[in-house]
Amino acid sequence: SDFDGLGLNPLLSAHLSKKMEIKKPTAIQRAALPAILSTVPEDVERDVFIQSQTGSGKTLSFLLPIIQDLLPLSSLSYIDRSIGTLAIIIAPTRELAKQISDVLEDLLKLRLRAEHESADDLNTARLTRWLVSGLLIGGSTRAHEKARLRKGLPILVCTPGRLLDHLQKTASFNVAKCRWLVLDEADRLMELGFEDTITGILKGLDGHRKLALQALNEGIGREVGGWDWERKRRTI
Ligand code: AMP
Repeated sequence: SDFDGLGLNPLLSAHLSKKMEIKKPTAIQRAALPAILSTVPEDVERDVFIQSQTGSGKTLSFLLPIIQDLLPLSSLSYIDRSIGTLAIIIAPTRELAKQISDVLEDLLKLRLRAEHESADDLNTARLTRWLVSGLLIGGSTRAHEKARLRKGLPILVCTPGRLLDHLQKTASFNVAKCRWLVLDEADRLMELGFEDTITGILKGLDGHRKLALQALNEGIGREVGGWDWERKRRTI
């Protein structure tokens, strides 16, 4: 499909077109996917800003590269669940976090799809069973969230306050191998006064966060948490 041409794993693009009715990339996806997919998370010089309007398809622009990046880790992580959290997505409101989490859940159903397809995909299915997501928005008790974190949640979607709370208080929350941090609607996060919280989160992830994406509606990204965004950023 058109997504394959952008460097997306064929298993993911087949899942998009057959199960999610998403067949043609939007303009921001055409620009962002090749750029992010070719950005090695180890390269912290390449923090990325994705700037486009609400409704333009930004969510998939960051979720797809994250999943694609984590797939090869499957053989390692399938055995070692203590690998902890590998990707964190922060959204300004509970509603937005829930929406992102729903899209992520739909994408991760590729495990089920793969189980019913070819032998090659069967292997992927077996290996991707570990790849689960969690939503941390303060909707359930802290004890319940702690228990889920202790079991290991490779991909997290959170609101800022609850995430900082767990980074500071939940000893079993392992972010030592975290590869991705996304600030969705980063401009709104700042408008809503979350700058100090984000700064605290960056401190909590110190040295562990590899690639940061700021998704913006309009306006420009801001320097947050002592990061020199201007120097490192690449705007798509
Ligand atoms: P977003 O801007 O990420 O909130 O996406 C807005 C809406 O567009 C969501 O309902 C997506 O499911 C949908 N969408 C995203 N990418 C595509 C695409 N390539 N083709 C059709 N619909 C899409």
